[in-house]
Amino acid sequence: MAKPVMESRSNRAAVQATNDDASASKLSCVKKGYIKDDYVHLFVRRPVRRSPIINRGYFARWAVLRKLLYQFLDCEPNAGEKEKTKKQIVSLGAGFDTMYFQLKDEGKAPHSYVELDFIEVTRKKASLIENCIQLKEKVGETAFISPERGEVLGEHYKLLPVDLCDINKLNDIVALANIDPSLPTFIIAECVLIYIDPDSSRAIVGWASQTFSTAVFFLYEQIHPNDAFGQQMIRNLESRGCALLGIYDTPTLEAKENLFLDQGWQKAIAWDMLRVYTDFVEAHERRRIERLELFDEFEEWHLMQEHYCVAYAVNDLLGLFKEFGFPNIQPQAGTSTATPS
Ligand code: SAM
Repeated sequence: MAKPVMESRSNRAAVQATNDDASASKLSCVKKGYIKDDYVHLFVRRPVRRSPIINRGYFARWAVLRKLLYQFLDCEPNAGEKEKTKKQIVSLGAGFDTMYFQLKDEGKAPHSYVELDFIEVTRKKASLIENCIQLKEKVGETAFISPERGEVLGEHYKLLPVDLCDINKLNDIVALANIDPSLPTFIIAECVLIYIDPDSSRAIVGWASQTFSTAVFFLYEQIHPNDAFGQQMIRNLESRGCALLGIYDTPTLEAKENLFLDQGWQKAIAWDMLRVYTDFVEAHERRRIERLELFDEFEEWHLMQEHYCVAYAVNDLLGLFKEFGFPNIQPQAGTSTATPS
Protein backbone atom coordinates (compact mmCIF):
# COMPACT_ATOMS: atom_id res chain seq x y z
CA MET A 1 0.00 0.00 0.00
CA ALA A 2 1.34 3.48 -0.89
CA LYS A 3 2.37 5.65 2.04
CA PRO A 4 -0.08 8.55 2.32
CA VAL A 5 1.38 12.04 2.78
CA MET A 6 0.52 12.69 6.41
CA GLU A 7 2.77 15.57 7.47
CA SER A 8 -0.01 18.11 6.89
CA ARG A 9 -2.19 16.20 9.34
CA SER A 10 0.37 16.48 12.11
CA ASN A 11 0.29 19.53 14.29
CA ARG A 12 2.78 20.28 17.06
CA ALA A 13 0.21 21.45 19.63
CA ALA A 14 -1.98 18.41 19.01
CA VAL A 15 0.97 16.04 19.37
CA GLN A 16 1.89 17.74 22.64
CA ALA A 17 -1.70 17.33 23.80
CA THR A 18 -1.31 13.53 23.55
CA ASN A 19 0.71 13.96 26.73
CA ASP A 20 -2.34 15.33 28.56
CA ASP A 21 -4.34 12.34 27.33
CA ALA A 22 -1.69 9.93 28.59
CA SER A 23 -1.59 11.58 32.03
CA ALA A 24 -5.39 11.63 32.28
CA SER A 25 -5.53 7.94 31.34
CA LYS A 26 -2.86 7.04 33.90
CA LEU A 27 -4.83 8.92 36.57
CA SER A 28 -7.97 7.03 35.57
CA CYS A 29 -6.00 3.79 36.12
CA VAL A 30 -4.77 4.98 39.51
CA LYS A 31 -8.29 5.82 40.66
CA LYS A 32 -9.60 2.39 39.70
CA GLY A 33 -6.69 0.62 41.42
CA TYR A 34 -4.89 -0.66 38.30
CA ILE A 35 -1.63 1.10 39.02
CA LYS A 36 0.03 2.98 41.86
CA ASP A 37 1.27 6.46 41.09
CA ASP A 38 1.27 9.04 43.86
CA TYR A 39 2.20 11.89 41.54
CA VAL A 40 0.20 11.76 38.32
CA HIS A 41 -2.76 13.64 39.88
CA LEU A 42 -0.46 16.64 40.25
CA PHE A 43 -0.20 16.83 36.45
CA VAL A 44 -3.85 16.46 35.47
CA ARG A 45 -6.13 19.47 35.40
CA ARG A 46 -9.33 17.70 34.42
CA PRO A 47 -9.56 14.11 35.64
CA VAL A 48 -11.62 11.79 33.44
CA ARG A 49 -12.91 8.26 33.82
CA ARG A 50 -11.70 5.99 31.04
CA SER A 51 -13.48 2.85 29.86
CA PRO A 52 -12.31 -0.54 31.22
CA ILE A 53 -10.58 -1.39 27.93
CA ILE A 54 -8.52 1.82 27.99
CA ASN A 55 -7.65 1.29 31.66
CA ARG A 56 -6.53 -2.26 30.93
CA GLY A 57 -4.43 -1.11 27.95
CA TYR A 58 -2.69 1.55 30.04
CA PHE A 59 -2.12 -0.97 32.80
CA ALA A 60 -0.37 -3.32 30.34
CA ARG A 61 1.76 -0.44 29.01
CA TRP A 62 2.71 0.60 32.55
CA ALA A 63 3.43 -2.97 33.65
CA VAL A 64 5.75 -3.85 30.76
CA LEU A 65 7.79 -0.67 31.04
CA ARG A 66 8.19 -1.07 34.80
CA LYS A 67 9.18 -4.72 34.55
CA LEU A 68 11.84 -4.07 31.90
CA LEU A 69 13.05 -0.96 33.72
CA TYR A 70 13.41 -2.88 37.01
CA GLN A 71 15.29 -5.62 35.18
CA PHE A 72 17.67 -3.00 33.84
CA LEU A 73 18.12 -1.35 37.23
CA ASP A 74 18.84 -4.74 38.83
CA CYS A 75 21.45 -5.82 36.22
CA GLU A 76 24.86 -5.99 37.87
CA PRO A 77 28.13 -7.15 36.27
CA ASN A 78 29.27 -9.03 39.38
CA ALA A 79 26.49 -10.53 41.46
CA GLY A 80 27.11 -10.05 45.15
CA GLU A 81 28.98 -6.75 44.84
CA LYS A 82 27.72 -4.27 47.38
CA GLU A 83 28.41 -1.14 45.32
CA LYS A 84 25.63 -0.66 42.75
CA THR A 85 26.66 0.20 39.18
CA LYS A 86 25.78 3.79 38.29
CA LYS A 87 22.99 3.88 35.71
CA GLN A 88 21.11 6.43 33.63
CA ILE A 89 17.61 6.74 32.24
CA VAL A 90 16.91 9.06 29.31
CA SER A 91 13.22 9.58 28.52
CA LEU A 92 12.52 10.91 25.02
CA GLY A 93 9.22 12.81 24.76
CA ALA A 94 8.73 12.25 28.50
CA GLY A 95 5.71 14.53 28.74
CA PHE A 96 4.36 14.59 32.30
CA ASP A 97 5.59 11.09 33.08
CA THR A 98 6.18 10.58 36.81
CA MET A 99 8.51 7.57 36.76
CA TYR A 100 11.41 9.50 38.29
CA PHE A 101 9.34 10.55 41.30
CA GLN A 102 8.08 7.01 41.81
CA LEU A 103 11.56 5.47 41.55
CA LYS A 104 12.80 8.03 44.05
CA ASP A 105 10.12 6.93 46.56
CA GLU A 106 11.02 3.30 45.96
CA GLY A 107 14.73 3.94 46.55
CA LYS A 108 15.39 2.84 42.96
CA ALA A 109 16.18 6.14 41.23
CA PRO A 110 19.27 5.83 39.03
CA HIS A 111 22.35 8.01 39.24
CA SER A 112 20.92 10.21 36.51
CA TYR A 113 17.38 10.61 35.11
CA VAL A 114 16.99 12.88 32.08
CA GLU A 115 13.66 13.90 30.54
CA LEU A 116 13.34 15.58 27.13
CA ASP A 117 10.35 17.09 25.37
CA PHE A 118 9.28 20.12 23.35
CA ILE A 119 9.83 23.39 25.21
CA GLU A 120 6.08 24.04 25.51
CA VAL A 121 5.79 20.81 27.52
CA THR A 122 8.96 21.15 29.60
CA ARG A 123 7.94 24.71 30.53
CA LYS A 124 4.69 23.44 32.00
CA LYS A 125 6.43 20.56 33.76
CA ALA A 126 9.15 22.82 35.20
CA SER A 127 6.49 25.20 36.47
CA LEU A 128 4.52 22.38 38.11
CA ILE A 129 7.71 21.08 39.75
CA GLU A 130 8.64 24.56 40.97
CA ASN A 131 5.22 25.14 42.51
CA CYS A 132 4.68 21.77 44.15
CA ILE A 133 6.68 21.00 47.27
CA GLN A 134 6.16 17.25 46.84
CA LEU A 135 7.85 17.35 43.43
CA LYS A 136 10.38 20.02 44.27
CA GLU A 137 11.88 18.11 47.16
CA LYS A 138 12.35 15.06 44.92
CA VAL A 139 14.47 16.97 42.39
CA GLY A 140 16.62 18.28 45.24
CA GLU A 141 16.86 21.51 47.21
CA THR A 142 19.74 22.77 45.10
CA ALA A 143 18.13 22.12 41.69
CA PHE A 144 18.03 25.03 39.23
CA ILE A 145 14.41 25.34 38.07
CA SER A 146 13.45 27.68 35.23
CA PRO A 147 9.87 27.48 33.94
CA GLU A 148 10.77 30.15 31.39
CA ARG A 149 13.57 28.07 29.88
CA GLY A 150 11.67 24.83 30.46
CA GLU A 151 14.58 23.48 32.45
CA VAL A 152 15.20 21.67 35.71
CA LEU A 153 18.81 20.90 36.50
CA GLY A 154 19.14 18.86 39.67
CA GLU A 155 22.03 16.67 40.73
CA HIS A 156 20.31 13.44 39.67
CA TYR A 157 17.28 14.70 37.69
CA LYS A 158 17.30 16.87 34.57
CA LEU A 159 14.43 18.16 32.44
CA LEU A 160 15.45 19.81 29.18
CA PRO A 161 13.67 21.17 26.12
CA VAL A 162 14.56 19.87 22.68
CA ASP A 163 12.90 19.02 19.42
CA LEU A 164 14.07 15.42 19.03
CA CYS A 165 14.14 15.86 15.26
CA ASP A 166 17.00 18.30 15.72
CA ILE A 167 19.60 15.55 15.91
CA ASN A 168 22.59 17.87 16.30
CA LYS A 169 21.06 19.20 19.51
CA LEU A 170 21.02 15.73 21.07
CA ASN A 171 24.80 15.85 21.55
CA ASP A 172 24.43 19.25 23.25
CA ILE A 173 21.88 17.62 25.56
CA VAL A 174 24.39 14.91 26.49
CA ALA A 175 26.80 17.64 27.59
CA LEU A 176 24.17 19.86 29.24
CA ALA A 177 22.62 17.03 31.21
CA ASN A 178 26.01 15.63 32.17
CA ILE A 179 25.15 12.28 30.63
CA ASP A 180 28.02 9.78 30.69
CA PRO A 181 27.80 7.70 27.48
CA SER A 182 29.87 4.92 29.03
CA LEU A 183 27.33 4.24 31.82
CA PRO A 184 24.55 1.67 31.32
CA THR A 185 21.62 3.69 29.98
CA PHE A 186 17.92 2.93 29.52
CA ILE A 187 16.28 5.04 26.83
CA ILE A 188 12.50 5.32 26.92
CA ALA A 189 10.44 6.23 23.85
CA GLU A 190 6.85 5.61 24.93
CA CYS A 191 4.42 6.68 22.18
CA VAL A 192 6.86 9.25 20.82
CA LEU A 193 8.77 8.15 17.70
CA ILE A 194 5.53 7.19 15.97
CA TYR A 195 4.64 10.93 15.83
CA ILE A 196 8.00 11.77 14.25
CA ASP A 197 8.92 11.49 10.57
CA PRO A 198 10.71 8.21 9.76
CA ASP A 199 14.04 9.80 8.76
CA SER A 200 14.25 11.59 12.10
CA SER A 201 13.25 8.44 14.01
CA ARG A 202 16.00 6.50 12.28
CA ALA A 203 18.46 9.28 13.08
CA ILE A 204 17.44 9.24 16.78
CA VAL A 205 17.76 5.46 17.01
CA GLY A 206 21.13 5.60 15.20
CA TRP A 207 22.39 8.44 17.38
CA ALA A 208 21.45 6.48 20.51
CA SER A 209 23.26 3.38 19.27
CA GLN A 210 26.41 5.31 18.43
CA THR A 211 26.32 7.23 21.70
CA PHE A 212 25.59 4.48 24.23
CA SER A 213 27.64 1.28 24.15
CA THR A 214 25.82 -0.38 27.07
CA ALA A 215 22.18 0.49 26.68
CA VAL A 216 18.60 -0.60 26.26
CA PHE A 217 16.24 1.33 23.96
CA PHE A 218 12.60 0.78 24.94
CA LEU A 219 9.91 1.58 22.39
CA TYR A 220 6.14 1.35 22.86
CA GLU A 221 3.91 2.30 19.95
CA GLN A 222 1.36 1.34 17.32
CA ILE A 223 1.70 -1.27 14.54
CA HIS A 224 -0.37 -2.75 11.70
CA PRO A 225 -1.71 0.34 9.89
CA ASN A 226 -3.20 -1.54 6.97
CA ASP A 227 -6.13 -3.53 8.36
CA ALA A 228 -9.52 -2.08 9.25
CA PHE A 229 -8.67 -1.51 12.93
CA GLY A 230 -5.34 0.09 12.01
CA GLN A 231 -6.97 2.41 9.47
CA GLN A 232 -9.57 3.50 12.01
CA MET A 233 -6.89 4.11 14.65
CA ILE A 234 -4.96 6.28 12.18
CA ARG A 235 -8.08 8.23 11.15
CA ASN A 236 -9.02 8.88 14.80
CA LEU A 237 -5.62 10.32 15.61
CA GLU A 238 -5.32 12.23 12.32
CA SER A 239 -8.66 13.92 12.90
CA ARG A 240 -7.10 15.38 16.05
CA GLY A 241 -3.96 16.53 14.20
CA CYS A 242 -1.78 13.67 15.47
CA ALA A 243 -0.76 11.77 12.36
CA LEU A 244 1.19 8.58 13.08
CA LEU A 245 4.04 9.68 10.82
CA GLY A 246 6.16 6.60 11.49
CA ILE A 247 3.63 3.83 11.20
CA TYR A 248 3.98 3.05 7.49
CA ASP A 249 7.76 2.93 7.76
CA THR A 250 7.71 0.34 10.56
CA PRO A 251 4.32 -1.34 10.20
CA THR A 252 5.19 -4.78 11.68
CA LEU A 253 7.14 -6.31 14.56
CA GLU A 254 9.88 -7.32 12.16
CA ALA A 255 10.12 -3.76 10.82
CA LYS A 256 10.43 -2.39 14.38
CA GLU A 257 13.29 -4.81 15.06
CA ASN A 258 14.97 -3.87 11.78
CA LEU A 259 14.69 -0.18 12.64
CA PHE A 260 17.14 -0.89 15.47
CA LEU A 261 19.31 -3.51 13.80
CA ASP A 262 19.79 -1.34 10.71
CA GLN A 263 20.97 1.49 12.96
CA GLY A 264 23.66 -0.61 14.59
CA TRP A 265 21.99 -2.02 17.72
CA GLN A 266 23.35 -5.48 18.60
CA LYS A 267 19.99 -7.09 19.31
CA ALA A 268 16.33 -6.16 18.94
CA ILE A 269 13.13 -7.89 20.00
CA ALA A 270 9.55 -6.82 19.31
CA TRP A 271 6.37 -8.36 20.74
CA ASP A 272 2.83 -7.19 20.30
CA MET A 273 1.00 -6.18 23.46
CA LEU A 274 -1.29 -9.20 23.38
CA ARG A 275 1.76 -11.41 23.77
CA VAL A 276 3.33 -9.06 26.29
CA TYR A 277 0.15 -9.14 28.37
CA THR A 278 -0.13 -12.93 28.23
CA ASP A 279 3.51 -13.99 28.46
CA PHE A 280 5.34 -11.20 30.26
CA VAL A 281 3.03 -9.26 32.58
CA GLU A 282 2.96 -11.10 35.93
CA ALA A 283 0.06 -13.59 36.11
CA HIS A 284 -0.89 -12.52 39.64
CA GLU A 285 -1.04 -8.89 38.48
CA ARG A 286 -3.29 -9.86 35.56
CA ARG A 287 -5.59 -11.75 37.91
CA ARG A 288 -5.70 -8.77 40.26
CA ILE A 289 -6.58 -6.16 37.65
CA GLU A 290 -9.03 -8.38 35.78
CA ARG A 291 -11.22 -8.30 38.88
CA LEU A 292 -11.33 -4.51 39.11
CA GLU A 293 -14.05 -3.73 36.54
CA LEU A 294 -16.70 -5.54 34.57
CA PHE A 295 -15.12 -6.38 31.22
CA ASP A 296 -16.79 -7.95 28.21
CA GLU A 297 -14.97 -6.36 25.25
CA PHE A 298 -12.70 -9.33 24.60
CA GLU A 299 -12.70 -9.15 20.81
CA GLU A 300 -11.93 -5.42 20.84
CA TRP A 301 -9.26 -5.96 23.52
CA HIS A 302 -7.43 -8.54 21.40
CA LEU A 303 -7.60 -6.33 18.32
CA MET A 304 -6.39 -3.29 20.20
CA GLN A 305 -3.48 -5.09 21.84
CA GLU A 306 -2.40 -6.54 18.50
CA HIS A 307 -2.04 -2.97 17.27
CA TYR A 308 0.43 -1.90 19.94
CA CYS A 309 3.88 -3.31 20.55
CA VAL A 310 6.98 -3.12 22.65
CA ALA A 311 10.31 -3.27 20.91
CA TYR A 312 13.57 -3.11 22.79
CA ALA A 313 17.10 -3.00 21.49
CA VAL A 314 20.29 -3.77 23.35
CA ASN A 315 23.94 -2.75 23.08
CA ASP A 316 25.97 -4.65 25.63
CA LEU A 317 29.67 -3.75 25.64
CA LEU A 318 29.91 -4.37 29.40
CA GLY A 319 28.11 -7.74 29.20
CA LEU A 320 25.40 -6.60 31.61
CA PHE A 321 22.24 -7.70 29.83
CA LYS A 322 22.59 -11.47 29.37
CA GLU A 323 19.48 -12.08 31.48
CA PHE A 324 17.62 -8.94 30.35
CA GLY A 325 14.36 -8.95 28.41
CA PHE A 326 11.39 -11.06 27.46
CA PRO A 327 11.51 -14.79 28.26
CA ASN A 328 12.93 -16.92 25.52
CA ILE A 329 9.75 -18.73 24.50
CA GLN A 330 8.51 -19.70 21.06
CA PRO A 331 6.66 -16.88 19.31
CA GLN A 332 2.98 -17.39 18.60
CA ALA A 333 1.91 -17.44 14.97
CA GLY A 334 2.11 -13.97 13.48
CA THR A 335 4.79 -12.65 15.84
CA SER A 336 8.52 -12.62 15.25
CA THR A 337 11.86 -11.96 16.92
CA ALA A 338 15.08 -11.21 15.12
CA THR A 339 18.74 -10.84 15.93
CA PRO A 340 21.42 -9.98 13.39
CA SER A 341 22.87 -12.97 11.59
N1 SAM B 1 6.15 9.40 27.04
C1 SAM B 1 5.06 10.01 27.78
C2 SAM B 1 4.09 8.97 28.28
O1 SAM B 1 4.09 7.87 27.74
O2 SAM B 1 3.33 9.29 29.18
C3 SAM B 1 4.31 11.02 26.90
C4 SAM B 1 3.76 10.42 25.66
S1 SAM B 1 2.85 11.56 24.66
C5 SAM B 1 1.83 10.43 23.82
C6 SAM B 1 4.03 12.02 23.40
C7 SAM B 1 5.06 13.04 23.89
O3 SAM B 1 6.10 13.12 22.92
C8 SAM B 1 4.48 14.44 24.04
O4 SAM B 1 4.81 14.96 25.30
C9 SAM B 1 5.13 15.21 22.91
O5 SAM B 1 5.31 16.58 23.20
C10 SAM B 1 6.47 14.47 22.76
N2 SAM B 1 7.08 14.66 21.44
C11 SAM B 1 6.56 14.28 20.24
N3 SAM B 1 7.38 14.65 19.23
C12 SAM B 1 8.45 15.26 19.82
C13 SAM B 1 9.64 15.87 19.33
N4 SAM B 1 9.88 15.94 18.00
N5 SAM B 1 10.51 16.41 20.19
C14 SAM B 1 10.25 16.36 21.53
N6 SAM B 1 9.16 15.79 22.07
C15 SAM B 1 8.26 15.25 21.22
